[in-house]
Amino acid sequence: MDLKSGYPFWAVKNGLLKTFPQLTRDHQCEVVVIGGGITGALIADELSRKGHHVVVLERRDVGWGSSAASTALLQYEIDAHMTALAERYGEADAVRAYRACAEAIGELESLAAELGNVDFERQQSLYYASNEEDVAPLKEELALRQKHGFEAEWMEREAIFAEYGFVAPGAILTQLAATIDPYRMAYQLFSRVVERGGEVYDRTQMETITPDDHGVTLTLANSAKLRCQYVVMAAGYESQAWLPEKVADNLSSYALITDPLPPEALGKLRHTMVWESARPYLYMRTTCDGRLLVGGDDDDEDIPKRRDARVEEKAEGLAAKIEALWPRLDINPTFSWGGTFAETGDGLPFFGPHDALGPRVHFAMAYGGNGISYSMIGAKLLRALIEGREHPLAELFSFKRLAKIA
Ligand SMILES: Cc1cc2nc3c(=O)[nH]c(=O)nc-3n(C[C@H](O)[C@H](O)[C@H](O)COP(=O)(O)OP(=O)(O)OC[C@H]3O[C@@H](n4cnc5c(N)ncnc54)[C@H](O)[C@@H]3O)c2cc1C
Repeated sequence: MDLKSGYPFWAVKNGLLKTFPQLTRDHQCEVVVIGGGITGALIADELSRKGHHVVVLERRDVGWGSSAASTALLQYEIDAHMTALAERYGEADAVRAYRACAEAIGELESLAAELGNVDFERQQSLYYASNEEDVAPLKEELALRQKHGFEAEWMEREAIFAEYGFVAPGAILTQLAATIDPYRMAYQLFSRVVERGGEVYDRTQMETITPDDHGVTLTLANSAKLRCQYVVMAAGYESQAWLPEKVADNLSSYALITDPLPPEALGKLRHTMVWESARPYLYMRTTCDGRLLVGGDDDDEDIPKRRDARVEEKAEGLAAKIEALWPRLDINPTFSWGGTFAETGDGLPFFGPHDALGPRVHFAMAYGGNGISYSMIGAKLLRALIEGREHPLAELFSFKRLAKIA
């Protein structure tokens, strides 16, 4: 499976930042993390920070999976509304999930400050109603969030036009959101893991997993064997291949980026990410150098060749939608791309063990529009499970809820 098509901006902007060696000999360690994307990076960093000996295996090059294609909006706002989660799981769990995402943004900010140079920027988030029918559900959503202390406010049509220059019947404006360069962050985190004595291997594919009562044996594609106490499966959308049942739908999502635009053309959009209530949603953010990054138009295509063929047409469609909303913006895509994306039935991620592979193999399936915020939560959650501690979201984000989603 090829996880992306076209020219993902982060890989073009940064190039190959560092090459890690291949693992070609038998080896042993405490925890093996499979997958060198942003999820594997955050988990390996969290574990190595607390003194765990971690080995990371990446079958491509680090960051070269979906993380290179991510548009990297960091949001506490989950694709599923808090009202929808409250209906499904109760208000307490819905609030717990939203609050954890809000805390994850602060945690990512702290990590970014430690690492430096990963383009972390605080932004506002404007979530607009795509049509009149969506105004009432958005107002209900706002009321529930406000009830639980989330800072957010309602904007009427006139205010949206005056402040942000486009027409929408209403919107939720929140101050807590951010953007990042996920590819650079993954590299920086893995470099730090190595400095702490951890090991990161590129072009090293795990082929079989054999758990037993005392540990787990992994066989690599080159036949080397790796023995460990625990495995974290952070293999992105390819993690699903290790489960007996389908836990998410694989989709493709598309994005484009422009050349830097003049600050006067962007106005308040420079520091505000914008997205909408329609599904799949159109969204946009800026980069630190004033480019506009636009994404959306997801479809259920997961055959890379067919997705490749669609990238240009999808980018034209996304540009046309933005120009229809903001006629003063002239959108010329500099790079455009598509990437694999997955959605669970309830918009929540899966973290933890699955019966199929037993208690020593933990999955890190940070699926959804705010996958990176989920990965940050997953890093803490999985460290707690590996250390035999409880975590407030362990139950909600476990595979136990699969029966409720089906
Ligand atoms: C177009 C697009 C836009 C997105 N926008 C956002 C956004 O705005 N905000 C957000 O939070 N999220 C967003 N996402 C989702 C986000 O990109 C993902 O949540 C995140 O990048 C996933 O990281 P990951 O490390 O889990 O997966 P990946 O980056 O795919 O990493 C998994 C790695 O595992 C490796 N691997 C797989 N199998 C094996 C094996 N057997 N052995 C060794 N290695 C293996 C793969 O090569 C891959 O590099 C977007 C995704 C796309 C495609």
